[in-house]
Formats: sequence, C-alpha cells, structure tokens
Amino acid sequence: MASGAVLWFGDVMSAVPLRNNKAAASAVRSVTVLGATGSIGDSTMDLLRGARDRYRVEALTANSNVEALAKLAREFGARFAAIADPTKLSALKDALAGTRTECGAGESAIIEAAARPADWVMAAVSGAAGLKPALAAVDRGASVALANKECLVCAGDFFMERAAKAGACILPADSEHNALFQALASGDRAELVRVIITASGGPFRTWAPADIEQATLEQALKHPNWSMGQKITIDSASMMNKGLEVIEASYLFALTPDEIDVLVHPQSIIHGMVEFSDRSVMAQLGAPDMRIPIAHCLGWPDRIVGPSARLDLAKIGQLTFEAPDFARFPGLRLAYEALRTGKGATTVYNAANEVAVAAFIAGKIKFGAIARLVEATMNDWIRTGNRAPLVSADDAISVDHVARNKAAALLPQIALKAT
Ligand code: NDP
Repeated sequence: MASGAVLWFGDVMSAVPLRNNKAAASAVRSVTVLGATGSIGDSTMDLLRGARDRYRVEALTANSNVEALAKLAREFGARFAAIADPTKLSALKDALAGTRTECGAGESAIIEAAARPADWVMAAVSGAAGLKPALAAVDRGASVALANKECLVCAGDFFMERAAKAGACILPADSEHNALFQALASGDRAELVRVIITASGGPFRTWAPADIEQATLEQALKHPNWSMGQKITIDSASMMNKGLEVIEASYLFALTPDEIDVLVHPQSIIHGMVEFSDRSVMAQLGAPDMRIPIAHCLGWPDRIVGPSARLDLAKIGQLTFEAPDFARFPGLRLAYEALRTGKGATTVYNAANEVAVAAFIAGKIKFGAIARLVEATMNDWIRTGNRAPLVSADDAISVDHVARNKAAALLPQIALKAT
C-alpha cells in the first residue's frame, strides 16, 4: 500500500502527498468503494474489473439501490456490503443469499464499511452524508481517493489536519484537483504562484442572463462534455460546482483564495494548471473521462494501464479559453466570498446549494434562484450565525443543519421574488 505520507505544505500540515513517494505497492491491494452504485462508483468498478489480479474488494456501499449493490458485491466477491437505507437490509440479505458477503444497513454500516481494513478507499458517497464515512477511513490511516467534495467544503477546517495526524494519504480524485496534484509535483510550495482550475462553462456558458434565469431542468442536465450524477451536473450548469472546487482546492493544497484562479475552457481537455515563480505553467491534459483521474489515484504511486481513449489533439484541433463571468454565474463569486469569510461559511454555501438544487429539481424555484437562495442564506448566517472554528464532524453537521433550515425557511420568499 502507498505509505501515508504526511508532508508539510507551507505552514499547514497536509495529507496530500505532493511529491511522489514511491513506496512499494503490495501485490494485491484491498479496496473499498463508498458510493459504489453512483457515477464515480461505476467508473471505479470499471477500473477494478480491468485489473482483478491486482485488487481485492473489501466493502461496497450504496444508499438504497439494493439490486445494483448486490450485483456488484456478487461480481467482485466483496466481503461486506452496506446499504444506508435501514429498511432495505432484508432485501440486501436476500439478494446476497448463498454468498460469503456480510450485509449491513444504516449510517453505522456505511461507517463500518469505511473502517474495515482496506488499503485504498474511494470516497464517492454524494453530499454531506459522505463526511463521517470518509473520516472513518481517514482515521485509520488509509489511502483515500477523495471524490466527495463535501468532506472538504463542509469540514475542510479539520478534515485535512485529521488526515495528516492519522497518517492517511488523501488522493484527489476530482479531475481538476487530480490535475493540480500531478502538476504540483513539479515544484515546491515556495515556488508556487497560483493554481488554475479549468471549467467547461456548462450548458449555459453563452446564454444571456434572462435565459439562464428561466432554464429548465432538462436544459441544466445537458452537460456538453461530462457524464455525471444529477446534482453535480446541475452544479456545473450554475458553476456552483466550480465554486465548490475552488473551496476544495483551498483546503486540499492549503492555498489562499488569491492563489486559485478559474479559467473557462469549453473543451475540458486541460483540467488544471500550476504556475511557478519562473513563469513555467504545468498542465495536466486528458479526455473528459473520470476513469483517468480515478486510475491515477488507484495506481498511485505507480501508474496503471487505463481503459480510456487516448488523447488525440490533432483531432480536437483547438483548445480555447475565456475568463469566467462572475455576474452571470454568481455562484462562483459566492464561493470566493465564503472562502474569504471562512469558519463555517463554506459549509453554509454547500448546504444552501443542496437545498436550492433539490428545490429546483422539484420545480419549486427557477434556475436563477439557486444562487439567490445561497446568497441570502450566507448573508443571514454571516449576520447571525455562530462563527467559531469547526473542530469536529458534529460541528460541521450542526452548521450544515442550521444552514439547511435557514435555506428552507427563505425558500418561499426567494421563489416569489422577481428577478
Ligand atoms: P451519484 O449520485 O451518481 O452517486 C452517489 C452514490 O452515493 C451512490 O452510490 C448512492 O447510492 C450513494 N449515496 C447517496 N446518498 C447516500 C447516503 N445518504 N448514504 C450513503 N450512500 C449514499 O454521485 P456521483 O458519483 O456523481 O458523485 C459522488 C461524489 O463525487 C459527489 O460528492 C460529487 O460531487 C463527487 N464528484 C463526482 C464527479 C462525477 O463525475 N460524477 C466528479 C468529481 C466529483 P444509491 O445509488 O443507492 O443512491
């Protein structure tokens, strides 16, 4: 297993191994996939399917999709399968009858799955529900491929510190952060000037504000390049996803907001860049396929043979770039504001966005109201909230709950408000 390299990045202890620490990988690595039935889970299982001799599956988890979870557990001979919905335990047991797979249900079973001894854990539960399981993997010093943004956005204040203290190794699985992870290996902290996270711009990149305001769910779900889960696809359309990624990068790599730039790059071929003091800019390129960053995390510190298409730049022809438009996409501006406010504001940003996206999917608010609800919730919290530093998962979850309740309370007036 890759060693849990605890490094110091600037003044902040970091669990992201910024220099390749080529510890010998054991012949067969045990792996656990949290959120195995989702979009990231699917890409991860696909990679494992292609390298069965190198990986053994310890545990797999899902929220309520018993059928898909049981199918994967059977296919990979998982030792443990956990379903978050406690009412589905008997269905899971029935579906896995005759196998050696142990079954569990409820939040505690998802945490148990993460705590079981696997060398490598993919943290791909969606939403704030992913925090406690990811912490369970971190606390036992595992290598954790982190796809779940909410761990950092809601709890970045202490998540990375706790990972570093436990000797866990955080491998950034999100494509932009994985790109930065690879590019950062070219220099030292003192030589770094800034990182650049690219954004496709989403389906509304060229739309007028009035059209973005009225965009339908169907239009928001048409991402030009990436195939992803529903929530993250809507976040990409509002550029809230890029905002979450700016926050994620800040916590992962101990960067100030001024050291993180966003660049719109509609082709999604360059995923991230790092500028160093000599003005060299290191970039990571690849097709928009999540199996590429996940393969990097799975193989780390080595590289495995990935199944993704090879990059053909001659065929692509042109790579283009634009500055982000903070006025048409206020969600991005709000992310920088939350990061500058600190101490729970990013937790509020995320929680309010989750409430807003759910309301948009349910047809209760217009697309343009998503950012307005997030801004109103953040402003209320800045005025009235308890802004003590977050030092535990319970602190983060408590701020998350307060923000969700506030966002739900503000929802009717935001829904009514004309633009
Ligand atoms: P999906 O919605 O496709 O999958 C989510 C997974 O988590 C499913 O296995 C789901 O189970 C499970 N799950 C959902 N809620 C709970 C819960 N309360 N308790 C336990 N398990 C739960 O999401 P994605 O795969 O798209 O995204 C996962 C995470 O990765 C998110 O944080 C996202 O932001 C991040 N990410 C995703 C990218 C992508 O390309 N998709 C790119 C970069 C980051 P079930 O199937 O039963 O519902």
